[in-house]
Amino acid sequence: DPSAAPATWIWRDGALVPWREATVHVTSVGHASVAAVFEGIKAYRAVDGDRLLVFRLDDHLERLYESARLCRTVIPFPPDELRTAVLETLRANGYRDDTYVRPWAFPRGLIREQMVPAGVECEVVIDTWPFTSHLFRERACRAGVSTWTRPGDSQLPARVKAFSNYHNGRLAVMEARVNGHDWPVLLNDRGQVSEGAGACIALVRRGTVVTPSLTSALLAGITRSTVLDLLRDLGVPVEEREVDRTELALADEVFFVGTGWEVLPVGTIDGLVVGDGGTGPVTARLERAYADTVRGVLPARPGWLTEVPR
Ligand code: PMP
Repeated sequence: DPSAAPATWIWRDGALVPWREATVHVTSVGHASVAAVFEGIKAYRAVDGDRLLVFRLDDHLERLYESARLCRTVIPFPPDELRTAVLETLRANGYRDDTYVRPWAFPRGLIREQMVPAGVECEVVIDTWPFTSHLFRERACRAGVSTWTRPGDSQLPARVKAFSNYHNGRLAVMEARVNGHDWPVLLNDRGQVSEGAGACIALVRRGTVVTPSLTSALLAGITRSTVLDLLRDLGVPVEEREVDRTELALADEVFFVGTGWEVLPVGTIDGLVVGDGGTGPVTARLERAYADTVRGVLPARPGWLTEVPR
């Protein structure tokens, strides 16, 4: 819940500082934001109730550096230091329950140049706040294919997790709400399915899970990669390929996957009921496997779960 009360400590540029004192000059929020990149990570309370487990921390940090590289900005900290900083921020705030972690990097200092120059050094911030998991709540959402499309890789690359990319998803979300849906599904500039505004998408047809390929103009979702692994473990066939919008309408199940949205079943697509309109059987098995993975019930793959030190 982004409106949750602020944390006590926030990590900023090498040290924990009191959250309320972590301010920037007003001149820092204009053009600097255009080149700002970020990550969204979750730390789940372990099944034993006693530990906090950060999910795929190194993979998220790797993507943060990749986003910065593609934006040609410089993160002046090595990955190890940001890794320690995430754990230290969670520890200092004393979290015991599910917590969202938001690291981001924005050009340092006074940026008056509209075209933020390449090579600009960034300030790095790690904010945290509590969230409530939606796993296992019956909550199939209404989705609609948007008239807004995801820009292609040579237009505004979706592979970059930059704040500026979110204006596109925002337009689509507002349109979806006007039309009585909860969330949009975006097509790419070739008219194929790409992803949701803040999550990747997959469908199930005759027992096979199909998700748009990484070259379909989407963010290379870490949850997407997780669920593909989990589905293979469950013996469910998976396909990564171009997906037509009409395949969504004929699917037995459709679901979104993302760090924030976890596994979110889709009950209607453009008003057409998907399956029985609730959580389908494959989605339900996947949701269980995902919850058991992030809470440390299932054996973790190397690097997937990092315990927050006390
Ligand atoms: N696409 C977009 C546009 C997103 O914002 C997100 C959330 N980060 C995702 C996909 C899902 O990515 P991940 O599973 O890594 O959170």
